[in-house]
Amino acid sequence: MLRHMRILLIEDELAITRMVERGLAAHGHQVLSAENGEDGLLIVASEQLDLVLLDIGLPDLSGHEILREIRRQRSDLPVIMLTARDDVESKVSALDGGADDYITKPFSYEELLARIRARTRDTGQRQSSTLELGDLTIDLQAHRVWRAGDHIDLSRREFALLEYFARNRGRLLSRQQILTAVWEYEFEGESNVVDVYVRYLRNKLDREGEPSLFSTIRGSGYRFDPPPA
Ligand code: CA
Repeated sequence: MLRHMRILLIEDELAITRMVERGLAAHGHQVLSAENGEDGLLIVASEQLDLVLLDIGLPDLSGHEILREIRRQRSDLPVIMLTARDDVESKVSALDGGADDYITKPFSYEELLARIRARTRDTGQRQSSTLELGDLTIDLQAHRVWRAGDHIDLSRREFALLEYFARNRGRLLSRQQILTAVWEYEFEGESNVVDVYVRYLRNKLDREGEPSLFSTIRGSGYRFDPPPA
């Protein structure tokens, strides 16, 4: 599962902005957008970001100028350039100018998500395949979980939910956030599926006489915060 990210899109074509916003939001990412380079750079300077999608052809500054400025401010911030299909020269100079990757318009969500995944794997905390949280051990590759050494058998969905909680340890997560991230589509109207699955996880993971690993925050959602082992 993808880590949830804050992504800045600098793009002047509204149709592309809408498509990217919709596609990334459906995967739980937050998209900030700017229609021109100047606004984009203000956001780079002031916001916490995980990645930038940058159109090469913008009305004010060129993508290359913006890239140079982003690199000056934040050398570690992954930047993916959006280029036109036949613009080989631009692609080469984008990479020479310090872009991490480029993607050619028109592109599909799948392609975009794959590029984002590849770029964010390269940076920051390299994702280890095992998470240790208190006395819980979660093997993200094998989809196996142990509590204090005892293997706990989880269904695929229970595992996905636990993984999401584990990656957001200590954060208050709303039911809608959890639905969007773990079920990957929006339920119409009211759904208690999150509550049902949290109950399944509690039944399997909690110990009698000890506080639950999953706190219910009334009216808001859940927080997962296992005590240190
Ligand atoms: Ca453009």
